[in-house]
Amino acid sequence: MSKNYKIAVIFLLLVNVVLAGYLYTYHAGYKSYDDLLSKHEKQTADFKVLQAENEYLKQSKEQIRGQYAALLKERGGLEQNTTGPSDPGNFYVYYVPATSGSLEPYEELARGAGFDEYVSAFNVVFAVPLSEGIPVVFTQCGFENAYFDQNTKGIVFCYELVELFTTMSAFYEDETLRADYITANMFFALNHEIAHAMIDIYDLPVVGMEEDAADQLATLIGTSKAEYNFHAAINYRILDSLGRNPDYFGDHPLNEERYYNLLCLTYGSDPAIHYDIVYDEYLPATRAAGCQGEFEQVEKSWDELLSPYKKVK
Ligand SMILES: [Zn+2]
Repeated sequence: MSKNYKIAVIFLLLVNVVLAGYLYTYHAGYKSYDDLLSKHEKQTADFKVLQAENEYLKQSKEQIRGQYAALLKERGGLEQNTTGPSDPGNFYVYYVPATSGSLEPYEELARGAGFDEYVSAFNVVFAVPLSEGIPVVFTQCGFENAYFDQNTKGIVFCYELVELFTTMSAFYEDETLRADYITANMFFALNHEIAHAMIDIYDLPVVGMEEDAADQLATLIGTSKAEYNFHAAINYRILDSLGRNPDYFGDHPLNEERYYNLLCLTYGSDPAIHYDIVYDEYLPATRAAGCQGEFEQVEKSWDELLSPYKKVK
């Protein structure tokens, strides 16, 4: 055996050892991914149960729609959209009882926030082209998050996220402000996920990052109660100050960016009313100067994108 040949054999053996080590690590790393997958399968099964709930809701849909359409007409002279977008389903809220006693207070907070009514009103304005509907499932997750699941076409809202908002609300001394802060952030998070759901179910084009688009729609919806947007902005500022930022390579904007974007659109929706956002130096004047323009652009874009799916004009 020549010396060169021996060296080549030793080299190949070494490569094999390194490769085996790498594959082992790779596989071990994905063990947790398998866990996630099985958890996801369980959630999928849960959703099937939830979708049965939607059947009941569908039966009362005409009745609910009639009530809200009458209410909306009375308030703003809204007309039914005569083009009739396909609308066999509903957004609907479902609360899974928390299994951990420590999360029960947060389940109570979620149940008391008025999401059922809110989502019912949403169904009057927007079509849901999926007959199974879009469940909004409040549940214990084991982690802090709210997300739209593209596979099950459902929104999951974790009680742990409500807990996080509650912990962060300690930023305020005033009890009413704390309660508003928690409610505001729950609504912002829900609206953000509804935006993801709409982008998916309507197959909307998105120019730029979807996370920015979802924040923009959530902020637009929130301008009807601007102090909620303010609380949501503050939430991102606190997260940043706690060093809880997403990775630079992630798909979410940095928390400080979300803070300024939220304030900019809120201020831009009506600078005369929200002048204090700039006056009190939450938003620098250099950014504020363009915010009305930013708001008008975002509002026009979302109006045009959602218009075919609106049931009332
Ligand atoms: Zn998102």
